[in-house]
Amino acid sequence: MEKQALTDNQLESMSFRGGVDSMVDRATLAIGLNPDTAKVIQACNAVLQLKFPVKLNNSVEVFTGWWAVHSAHRLPAKGGLRFSALVNQDEIEALAALMTYKCAIADIPFGGAKGGLMINPANYSEDELREITRRFAMELARKDFIHPSVSVPAPDMGTSSREMAWIADTYKLLFPEDLNQNACVTGKPVERGGITGRTEATGKGVQYALQEFFRHPDAVESARLMDGLPDKRVVFQGLGNVGYHSAKVLSEQDKVKVIAIIERDGVVINEEGLNVHDVRQYFVETGGLKGFPAGDYDENSTEALEMECDILIPAAMESQIHAGNASRIQARMIVEAANGPVTYEADEILTGRGITILPDIYVNAGGVTVSYFEWTRNLSHMRFGRLQRRYDELRGQNLITAMEALTEKEVPDELDREISRGASELDLVRSGLDDTMRTAFQDLREVMKTYPHIRDYRTAAYAIAITKIAKSYYDLGMVEPPRP
Ligand code: GLU
Repeated sequence: MEKQALTDNQLESMSFRGGVDSMVDRATLAIGLNPDTAKVIQACNAVLQLKFPVKLNNSVEVFTGWWAVHSAHRLPAKGGLRFSALVNQDEIEALAALMTYKCAIADIPFGGAKGGLMINPANYSEDELREITRRFAMELARKDFIHPSVSVPAPDMGTSSREMAWIADTYKLLFPEDLNQNACVTGKPVERGGITGRTEATGKGVQYALQEFFRHPDAVESARLMDGLPDKRVVFQGLGNVGYHSAKVLSEQDKVKVIAIIERDGVVINEEGLNVHDVRQYFVETGGLKGFPAGDYDENSTEALEMECDILIPAAMESQIHAGNASRIQARMIVEAANGPVTYEADEILTGRGITILPDIYVNAGGVTVSYFEWTRNLSHMRFGRLQRRYDELRGQNLITAMEALTEKEVPDELDREISRGASELDLVRSGLDDTMRTAFQDLREVMKTYPHIRDYRTAAYAIAITKIAKSYYDLGMVEPPRP
Protein backbone atom coordinates (compact mmCIF):
# COMPACT_ATOMS: atom_id res chain seq x y z
CA MET A 1 0.00 0.00 0.00
CA GLU A 2 1.75 3.14 -1.15
CA LYS A 3 1.31 6.22 0.95
CA GLN A 4 0.23 8.35 -2.01
CA ALA A 5 -2.51 5.88 -2.90
CA LEU A 6 -4.38 6.53 0.35
CA THR A 7 -7.04 9.20 0.56
CA ASP A 8 -7.46 11.23 3.74
CA ASN A 9 -10.59 9.27 4.54
CA GLN A 10 -8.84 5.95 4.18
CA LEU A 11 -6.07 7.23 6.41
CA GLU A 12 -8.54 8.33 9.09
CA SER A 13 -10.35 5.00 9.14
CA MET A 14 -7.27 2.81 9.16
CA SER A 15 -7.31 0.14 11.85
CA PHE A 16 -4.45 -0.35 14.33
CA ARG A 17 -3.44 -3.47 12.43
CA GLY A 18 -3.69 -1.59 9.11
CA GLY A 19 -1.48 1.14 10.54
CA VAL A 20 1.23 -1.31 11.56
CA ASP A 21 1.07 -2.95 8.11
CA SER A 22 1.47 0.48 6.50
CA MET A 23 4.60 1.05 8.54
CA VAL A 24 5.98 -2.21 7.16
CA ASP A 25 4.97 -1.17 3.62
CA ARG A 26 6.80 2.10 4.00
CA ALA A 27 10.00 0.35 5.11
CA THR A 28 9.60 -2.29 2.37
CA LEU A 29 9.57 0.48 -0.23
CA ALA A 30 12.48 2.27 1.42
CA ILE A 31 14.83 -0.74 1.29
CA GLY A 32 13.48 -2.24 -1.93
CA LEU A 33 12.31 -5.50 -0.35
CA ASN A 34 10.14 -7.73 -2.53
CA PRO A 35 6.50 -6.78 -1.67
CA ASP A 36 5.55 -10.47 -1.73
CA THR A 37 8.08 -11.10 1.03
CA ALA A 38 6.55 -8.22 2.98
CA LYS A 39 3.12 -9.86 2.64
CA VAL A 40 4.46 -13.07 4.14
CA ILE A 41 5.99 -11.10 7.02
CA GLN A 42 2.80 -9.10 7.66
CA ALA A 43 0.42 -12.06 7.79
CA CYS A 44 -0.77 -13.08 11.25
CA ASN A 45 0.03 -16.76 11.45
CA ALA A 46 -2.74 -17.91 13.80
CA VAL A 47 -5.46 -16.38 15.96
CA LEU A 48 -7.44 -18.31 18.49
CA GLN A 49 -10.66 -16.82 19.75
CA LEU A 50 -12.10 -18.40 22.87
CA LYS A 51 -15.41 -18.06 24.56
CA PHE A 52 -15.41 -19.78 27.91
CA PRO A 53 -17.81 -19.86 30.83
CA VAL A 54 -16.87 -19.21 34.45
CA LYS A 55 -19.24 -19.70 37.36
CA LEU A 56 -19.14 -16.66 39.64
CA ASN A 57 -21.49 -16.17 42.60
CA ASN A 58 -24.14 -18.63 41.41
CA SER A 59 -24.30 -17.15 37.91
CA VAL A 60 -22.36 -18.07 34.84
CA GLU A 61 -20.49 -15.48 32.81
CA VAL A 62 -19.08 -16.13 29.35
CA PHE A 63 -15.76 -14.42 28.61
CA THR A 64 -14.13 -13.73 25.25
CA GLY A 65 -10.39 -13.92 24.81
CA TRP A 66 -7.80 -14.12 22.03
CA TRP A 67 -4.29 -15.38 21.54
CA ALA A 68 -2.63 -14.31 18.30
CA VAL A 69 0.65 -15.72 17.01
CA HIS A 70 1.82 -13.25 14.43
CA SER A 71 5.03 -14.94 13.49
CA ALA A 72 6.49 -18.32 14.18
CA HIS A 73 9.74 -17.84 12.23
CA ARG A 74 11.36 -18.25 15.63
CA LEU A 75 9.82 -20.06 18.56
CA PRO A 76 8.44 -19.58 21.10
CA ALA A 77 6.20 -16.75 20.01
CA LYS A 78 6.30 -14.17 22.76
CA GLY A 79 4.06 -11.38 23.92
CA GLY A 80 2.00 -9.85 26.67
CA LEU A 81 -1.45 -10.89 27.85
CA ARG A 82 -3.79 -7.92 28.16
CA PHE A 83 -6.90 -7.69 30.32
CA SER A 84 -9.10 -4.83 29.17
CA ALA A 85 -12.76 -4.23 28.41
CA LEU A 86 -11.69 -2.66 25.10
CA VAL A 87 -9.64 -5.48 23.56
CA ASN A 88 -10.58 -6.73 20.14
CA GLN A 89 -9.04 -9.02 17.55
CA ASP A 90 -7.66 -6.22 15.36
CA GLU A 91 -5.82 -4.78 18.34
CA ILE A 92 -4.42 -8.14 19.44
CA GLU A 93 -3.19 -8.91 15.92
CA ALA A 94 -1.55 -5.47 15.68
CA LEU A 95 0.14 -5.91 19.05
CA ALA A 96 1.31 -9.42 18.10
CA ALA A 97 2.86 -7.99 14.92
CA LEU A 98 4.63 -5.29 16.96
CA MET A 99 6.07 -8.07 19.15
CA THR A 100 7.58 -9.78 16.08
CA TYR A 101 9.30 -6.58 14.98
CA LYS A 102 10.35 -5.70 18.52
CA CYS A 103 12.04 -9.07 19.05
CA ALA A 104 13.85 -8.76 15.72
CA ILE A 105 15.22 -5.30 16.59
CA ALA A 106 16.31 -6.34 20.07
CA ASP A 107 17.88 -9.49 18.64
CA ILE A 108 15.72 -11.81 20.66
CA PRO A 109 15.19 -15.22 19.07
CA PHE A 110 11.39 -15.21 19.47
CA GLY A 111 8.40 -14.82 17.20
CA GLY A 112 5.67 -12.35 18.09
CA ALA A 113 2.39 -13.07 19.88
CA LYS A 114 -0.22 -11.30 21.99
CA GLY A 115 -3.19 -12.28 24.06
CA GLY A 116 -6.22 -10.42 25.26
CA LEU A 117 -9.16 -11.03 27.55
CA MET A 118 -12.19 -8.78 27.29
CA ILE A 119 -12.70 -7.89 30.91
CA ASN A 120 -12.55 -4.88 33.19
CA PRO A 121 -10.47 -6.29 36.07
CA ALA A 122 -11.74 -3.54 38.40
CA ASN A 123 -15.20 -5.16 38.35
CA TYR A 124 -14.01 -8.44 39.87
CA SER A 125 -12.58 -9.57 43.20
CA GLU A 126 -9.14 -11.17 43.39
CA ASP A 127 -10.69 -14.62 43.85
CA GLU A 128 -12.88 -14.14 40.79
CA LEU A 129 -9.96 -12.90 38.69
CA ARG A 130 -7.92 -15.94 39.73
CA GLU A 131 -10.71 -18.25 38.71
CA ILE A 132 -11.15 -16.51 35.34
CA THR A 133 -7.40 -16.34 34.62
CA ARG A 134 -6.91 -20.00 35.48
CA ARG A 135 -9.75 -21.04 33.22
CA PHE A 136 -8.45 -18.91 30.34
CA ALA A 137 -4.93 -20.31 30.85
CA MET A 138 -6.26 -23.85 30.88
CA GLU A 139 -8.11 -23.33 27.60
CA LEU A 140 -5.00 -21.82 25.99
CA ALA A 141 -2.58 -24.43 27.35
CA ARG A 142 -4.76 -27.35 26.28
CA LYS A 143 -4.57 -26.05 22.71
CA ASP A 144 -0.79 -25.48 22.93
CA PHE A 145 -1.26 -21.71 22.86
CA ILE A 146 0.64 -21.56 26.13
CA HIS A 147 3.74 -23.72 26.07
CA PRO A 148 7.43 -23.11 26.95
CA SER A 149 8.58 -23.85 23.43
CA VAL A 150 5.61 -22.59 21.43
CA SER A 151 3.88 -19.58 22.98
CA VAL A 152 4.88 -17.74 26.14
CA PRO A 153 2.76 -14.93 27.64
CA ALA A 154 3.96 -12.09 29.89
CA PRO A 155 2.34 -9.19 31.74
CA ASP A 156 0.72 -6.38 29.76
CA MET A 157 -1.98 -3.82 30.39
CA GLY A 158 -4.26 -5.05 33.19
CA THR A 159 -2.02 -7.97 34.20
CA SER A 160 1.06 -8.34 36.39
CA SER A 161 3.24 -10.96 38.06
CA ARG A 162 0.17 -12.08 40.02
CA GLU A 163 -1.67 -13.30 36.92
CA MET A 164 1.56 -14.86 35.59
CA ALA A 165 1.90 -16.90 38.80
CA TRP A 166 -1.67 -18.19 38.36
CA ILE A 167 -0.96 -19.10 34.74
CA ALA A 168 2.29 -20.90 35.61
CA ASP A 169 0.54 -22.85 38.33
CA THR A 170 -2.31 -23.85 36.01
CA TYR A 171 0.17 -25.05 33.39
CA LYS A 172 2.08 -26.98 36.06
CA LEU A 173 -1.07 -28.79 37.17
CA LEU A 174 -1.90 -29.73 33.58
CA PHE A 175 1.61 -30.81 32.59
CA PRO A 176 3.50 -31.82 35.74
CA GLU A 177 5.93 -33.93 33.73
CA ASP A 178 7.18 -30.95 31.71
CA LEU A 179 10.64 -30.24 33.09
CA ASN A 180 10.53 -26.71 31.66
CA GLN A 181 7.11 -25.85 33.00
CA ASN A 182 8.34 -22.61 34.60
CA ALA A 183 9.26 -21.26 31.18
CA CYS A 184 5.61 -21.36 30.02
CA VAL A 185 5.18 -17.73 31.08
CA THR A 186 7.48 -14.83 31.99
CA GLY A 187 7.08 -11.91 34.37
CA LYS A 188 6.44 -14.31 37.28
CA PRO A 189 7.14 -13.28 40.87
CA VAL A 190 10.82 -13.83 41.70
CA GLU A 191 9.88 -16.42 44.37
CA ARG A 192 8.03 -18.41 41.67
CA GLY A 193 10.76 -18.61 39.04
CA GLY A 194 10.73 -14.99 37.90
CA ILE A 195 13.83 -12.90 37.38
CA THR A 196 14.98 -9.88 39.37
CA GLY A 197 14.42 -6.69 37.42
CA ARG A 198 11.55 -7.85 35.18
CA THR A 199 8.95 -5.50 36.67
CA GLU A 200 11.05 -2.39 36.07
CA ALA A 201 12.44 -3.70 32.76
CA THR A 202 10.35 -1.80 30.22
CA GLY A 203 10.84 1.46 32.13
CA LYS A 204 14.59 0.86 32.45
CA GLY A 205 14.67 0.10 28.73
CA VAL A 206 13.10 3.50 28.03
CA GLN A 207 15.80 5.10 30.19
CA TYR A 208 18.62 3.23 28.43
CA ALA A 209 17.17 4.16 25.02
CA LEU A 210 17.15 7.85 25.93
CA GLN A 211 20.61 7.70 27.47
CA GLU A 212 21.95 6.14 24.28
CA PHE A 213 20.19 8.74 22.12
CA PHE A 214 21.86 11.52 24.12
CA ARG A 215 25.29 9.92 23.56
CA HIS A 216 25.01 10.94 19.87
CA PRO A 217 25.36 14.73 19.56
CA ASP A 218 24.24 14.82 15.92
CA ALA A 219 21.07 12.90 16.78
CA VAL A 220 20.36 15.33 19.63
CA GLU A 221 21.01 18.31 17.40
CA SER A 222 18.72 17.07 14.64
CA ALA A 223 15.97 16.71 17.26
CA ARG A 224 16.51 20.43 17.99
CA LEU A 225 17.45 19.62 21.58
CA MET A 226 20.39 20.72 23.68
CA ASP A 227 22.99 18.25 24.94
CA GLY A 228 22.33 16.05 27.94
CA LEU A 229 19.27 14.67 29.68
CA PRO A 230 19.43 16.77 32.87
CA ASP A 231 16.72 19.45 33.05
CA LYS A 232 14.95 18.27 29.92
CA ARG A 233 11.25 19.12 30.32
CA VAL A 234 9.36 15.87 29.96
CA VAL A 235 5.63 15.13 29.80
CA PHE A 236 4.50 11.60 30.64
CA GLN A 237 1.20 10.02 29.70
CA GLY A 238 0.37 7.03 31.90
CA LEU A 239 1.45 6.12 35.39
CA GLY A 240 1.12 2.35 35.04
CA ASN A 241 4.08 0.00 35.28
CA VAL A 242 5.95 1.37 32.24
CA GLY A 243 5.18 5.07 32.82
CA TYR A 244 5.95 4.93 36.52
CA HIS A 245 9.29 3.13 36.27
CA SER A 246 10.56 5.19 33.33
CA ALA A 247 9.48 8.51 34.91
CA LYS A 248 11.02 7.50 38.23
CA VAL A 249 14.45 6.50 36.95
CA LEU A 250 14.68 9.32 34.43
CA SER A 251 13.85 11.94 37.05
CA GLU A 252 15.87 10.44 39.92
CA GLN A 253 18.94 9.23 38.03
CA ASP A 254 19.08 11.36 34.86
CA LYS A 255 17.63 14.48 36.45
CA VAL A 256 15.02 15.18 33.80
CA LYS A 257 12.18 17.46 34.93
CA VAL A 258 8.86 15.65 34.77
CA ILE A 259 6.71 18.76 34.23
CA ALA A 260 3.43 16.93 33.69
CA ILE A 261 1.88 13.53 34.24
CA ILE A 262 -1.30 12.68 32.37
CA GLU A 263 -3.71 10.02 33.56
CA ARG A 264 -7.33 9.14 32.74
CA ASP A 265 -8.88 11.64 35.12
CA GLY A 266 -6.68 14.59 34.18
CA VAL A 267 -3.20 16.02 34.31
CA VAL A 268 -1.00 17.30 37.10
CA ILE A 269 1.53 19.98 36.14
CA ASN A 270 4.54 21.42 37.93
CA GLU A 271 7.14 23.38 35.92
CA GLU A 272 9.71 22.78 38.69
CA GLY A 273 9.39 19.04 38.25
CA LEU A 274 7.09 16.52 39.92
CA ASN A 275 8.18 13.93 42.46
CA VAL A 276 7.15 10.82 40.53
CA HIS A 277 7.10 8.56 43.55
CA ASP A 278 4.75 10.92 45.41
CA VAL A 279 2.42 11.27 42.42
CA ARG A 280 2.21 7.53 42.03
CA GLN A 281 1.54 6.99 45.73
CA TYR A 282 -1.23 9.58 45.63
CA PHE A 283 -2.64 8.03 42.45
CA VAL A 284 -2.69 4.53 43.95
CA GLU A 285 -4.28 5.74 47.20
CA THR A 286 -6.98 7.97 45.70
CA GLY A 287 -7.48 6.39 42.27
CA GLY A 288 -6.72 9.64 40.43
CA LEU A 289 -4.57 12.76 40.19
CA LYS A 290 -7.19 15.29 41.29
CA GLY A 291 -6.12 17.03 44.50
CA PHE A 292 -2.42 16.11 44.30
CA PRO A 293 -0.95 18.85 46.48
CA ALA A 294 2.38 19.53 44.75
CA GLY A 295 1.07 20.49 41.30
CA ASP A 296 -1.71 22.14 39.31
CA TYR A 297 -4.51 19.82 38.31
CA ASP A 298 -6.54 20.08 35.12
CA GLU A 299 -9.17 17.55 34.13
CA ASN A 300 -8.51 18.01 30.42
CA SER A 301 -6.02 15.22 29.89
CA THR A 302 -6.30 15.13 26.10
CA GLU A 303 -5.05 18.67 25.57
CA ALA A 304 -2.15 18.07 27.95
CA LEU A 305 -0.52 15.91 25.27
CA GLU A 306 -0.17 19.10 23.26
CA MET A 307 1.82 20.93 25.96
CA GLU A 308 5.05 22.59 25.00
CA CYS A 309 7.94 20.38 26.22
CA ASP A 310 11.23 18.83 25.13
CA ILE A 311 10.18 15.20 25.28
CA LEU A 312 6.73 13.64 25.30
CA ILE A 313 6.61 10.06 26.56
CA PRO A 314 3.29 8.34 25.88
CA ALA A 315 3.29 5.31 28.17
CA ALA A 316 -0.39 4.41 28.21
CA MET A 317 -2.10 2.85 25.24
CA GLU A 318 -2.36 2.91 21.47
CA SER A 319 -3.63 5.64 19.14
CA GLN A 320 -3.29 8.51 21.61
CA ILE A 321 -1.66 10.75 19.01
CA HIS A 322 -3.69 10.62 15.82
CA ALA A 323 -4.55 12.65 12.73
CA GLY A 324 -6.79 14.83 14.89
CA ASN A 325 -4.13 16.13 17.31
CA ALA A 326 -0.77 15.45 15.61
CA SER A 327 -0.54 18.92 14.11
CA ARG A 328 -0.91 20.48 17.57
CA ILE A 329 1.78 18.44 19.35
CA GLN A 330 4.51 20.83 20.52
CA ALA A 331 7.08 18.36 21.87
CA ARG A 332 10.40 18.25 20.02
CA MET A 333 10.73 14.56 20.51
CA ILE A 334 8.30 11.70 21.18
CA VAL A 335 9.55 8.56 22.92
CA GLU A 336 7.03 5.76 22.54
CA ALA A 337 7.04 3.79 25.77
CA ALA A 338 3.55 2.38 25.02
CA ASN A 339 2.73 0.09 22.11
CA GLY A 340 1.36 2.00 19.11
CA PRO A 341 0.68 5.38 20.80
CA VAL A 342 1.16 7.23 17.50
CA THR A 343 -1.00 6.17 14.56
CA TYR A 344 0.40 5.80 11.08
CA GLU A 345 -1.37 8.98 9.97
CA ALA A 346 -0.04 10.93 12.94
CA ASP A 347 3.44 9.58 12.32
CA GLU A 348 3.39 10.99 8.79
CA ILE A 349 2.24 14.39 10.08
CA LEU A 350 4.75 14.54 12.95
CA THR A 351 7.69 13.37 10.86
CA GLY A 352 6.72 15.94 8.23
CA ARG A 353 6.85 18.59 10.95
CA GLY A 354 10.38 17.55 11.90
CA ILE A 355 9.45 16.03 15.24
CA THR A 356 11.80 13.19 16.19
CA ILE A 357 10.11 9.95 17.19
CA LEU A 358 11.82 7.03 18.90
CA PRO A 359 9.45 4.20 17.96
CA ASP A 360 7.74 1.69 20.25
CA ILE A 361 9.29 -1.36 18.63
CA TYR A 362 12.65 -0.08 19.81
CA VAL A 363 11.87 1.96 22.95
CA ASN A 364 9.71 -0.54 24.81
CA ALA A 365 11.67 -3.67 23.89
CA GLY A 366 13.09 -3.79 27.44
CA GLY A 367 10.19 -5.84 28.75
CA VAL A 368 10.55 -8.69 26.29
CA THR A 369 14.34 -8.51 26.55
CA VAL A 370 14.24 -9.31 30.26
CA SER A 371 11.49 -11.86 29.57
CA TYR A 372 14.03 -13.55 27.32
CA PHE A 373 16.52 -13.58 30.19
CA GLU A 374 13.85 -15.04 32.48
CA TRP A 375 12.95 -17.73 29.95
CA THR A 376 16.59 -18.80 29.52
CA ARG A 377 17.03 -18.74 33.31
CA ASN A 378 14.00 -21.06 33.62
CA LEU A 379 15.42 -23.44 31.01
CA SER A 380 18.79 -23.54 32.76
CA HIS A 381 17.10 -23.98 36.14
CA MET A 382 19.67 -21.69 37.69
CA ARG A 383 19.86 -18.06 38.70
CA PHE A 384 22.26 -15.91 36.68
CA GLY A 385 25.57 -15.29 38.44
CA ARG A 386 25.25 -18.22 40.83
CA LEU A 387 28.37 -19.93 39.57
CA GLN A 388 30.75 -17.03 39.17
CA ARG A 389 29.76 -14.40 41.74
CA ARG A 390 32.07 -15.47 44.59
CA TYR A 391 34.81 -16.41 42.16
CA ASP A 392 34.71 -12.87 40.71
CA GLU A 393 34.84 -11.46 44.22
CA LEU A 394 37.92 -13.53 44.99
CA ARG A 395 39.66 -12.39 41.81
CA GLY A 396 38.84 -8.78 42.68
CA GLN A 397 40.25 -9.21 46.18
CA ASN A 398 43.43 -10.83 44.80
CA LEU A 399 43.82 -7.94 42.37
CA ILE A 400 43.57 -5.43 45.20
CA THR A 401 46.06 -7.35 47.36
CA ALA A 402 48.49 -7.43 44.42
CA MET A 403 48.01 -3.74 43.66
CA GLU A 404 48.56 -2.78 47.29
CA ALA A 405 51.66 -4.96 47.56
CA LEU A 406 53.18 -3.49 44.39
CA THR A 407 52.38 0.15 45.08
CA GLU A 408 52.64 -0.01 48.85
CA LYS A 409 49.54 2.14 48.93
CA GLU A 410 46.05 1.34 50.12
CA VAL A 411 43.25 1.17 47.54
CA PRO A 412 40.49 3.57 48.65
CA ASP A 413 37.52 1.83 50.30
CA GLU A 414 34.99 2.76 47.62
CA LEU A 415 37.21 1.49 44.80
CA ASP A 416 37.97 -1.63 46.86
CA ARG A 417 34.24 -2.35 47.17
CA GLU A 418 33.64 -1.81 43.45
CA ILE A 419 36.54 -4.00 42.30
CA SER A 420 35.88 -6.87 44.70
CA ARG A 421 32.13 -7.02 44.20
CA GLY A 422 30.72 -9.98 42.25
CA ALA A 423 27.75 -9.17 40.02
CA SER A 424 24.27 -9.94 41.38
CA GLU A 425 21.52 -11.21 39.11
CA LEU A 426 20.07 -7.68 38.94
CA ASP A 427 23.46 -6.27 37.85
CA LEU A 428 23.62 -8.83 35.06
CA VAL A 429 20.03 -8.25 33.96
CA ARG A 430 20.54 -4.49 33.80
CA SER A 431 23.84 -4.88 32.00
CA GLY A 432 22.24 -7.17 29.39
CA LEU A 433 19.30 -4.81 28.97
CA ASP A 434 21.52 -1.73 28.64
CA ASP A 435 23.65 -3.50 26.06
CA THR A 436 20.55 -4.54 24.08
CA MET A 437 19.16 -1.01 24.00
CA ARG A 438 22.50 0.56 23.06
CA THR A 439 23.22 -1.93 20.32
CA ALA A 440 19.73 -1.61 18.86
CA PHE A 441 20.00 2.17 18.66
CA GLN A 442 23.40 1.90 16.99
CA ASP A 443 21.84 -0.51 14.49
CA LEU A 444 19.17 2.09 13.70
CA ARG A 445 21.85 4.64 12.95
CA GLU A 446 23.75 2.17 10.77
CA VAL A 447 20.65 1.55 8.67
CA MET A 448 20.15 5.28 8.26
CA LYS A 449 23.72 5.49 6.95
CA THR A 450 23.19 2.61 4.55
CA TYR A 451 19.91 4.11 3.27
CA PRO A 452 20.40 7.89 3.55
CA HIS A 453 16.85 8.51 2.29
CA ILE A 454 15.53 6.93 5.53
CA ARG A 455 15.26 9.98 7.76
CA ASP A 456 13.14 8.67 10.64
CA TYR A 457 13.87 6.09 13.32
CA ARG A 458 10.61 4.22 12.83
CA THR A 459 11.28 3.40 9.19
CA ALA A 460 14.85 2.48 10.17
CA ALA A 461 13.53 0.16 12.90
CA TYR A 462 11.08 -1.54 10.55
CA ALA A 463 13.82 -1.82 7.91
CA ILE A 464 15.99 -3.76 10.37
CA ALA A 465 13.13 -5.95 11.54
CA ILE A 466 11.88 -6.93 8.10
CA THR A 467 15.40 -7.52 6.80
CA LYS A 468 16.12 -9.96 9.64
CA ILE A 469 12.78 -11.73 9.35
CA ALA A 470 13.02 -11.94 5.56
CA LYS A 471 16.44 -13.53 5.96
CA SER A 472 15.06 -16.22 8.23
CA TYR A 473 12.26 -16.87 5.72
CA TYR A 474 14.81 -17.16 2.86
CA ASP A 475 16.75 -19.65 4.94
CA LEU A 476 13.59 -21.71 5.37
CA GLY A 477 12.83 -21.49 1.65
CA MET A 478 9.49 -19.81 2.32
CA VAL A 479 10.17 -16.80 0.11
CA GLU A 480 12.43 -16.07 -2.83
CA PRO A 481 15.77 -14.58 -1.77
CA PRO A 482 16.74 -11.34 -3.52
CA ARG A 483 18.76 -11.77 -6.72
CA PRO A 484 22.45 -10.93 -6.17
N1 GLU B 1 3.86 -6.74 27.33
C1 GLU B 1 5.20 -6.48 26.98
C2 GLU B 1 5.31 -5.92 25.57
O1 GLU B 1 4.35 -5.48 25.01
C3 GLU B 1 6.14 -7.64 27.24
C4 GLU B 1 6.03 -8.84 26.41
C5 GLU B 1 6.91 -9.99 26.90
O2 GLU B 1 7.67 -9.81 27.83
O3 GLU B 1 6.79 -11.07 26.32
O4 GLU B 1 6.37 -5.81 25.04
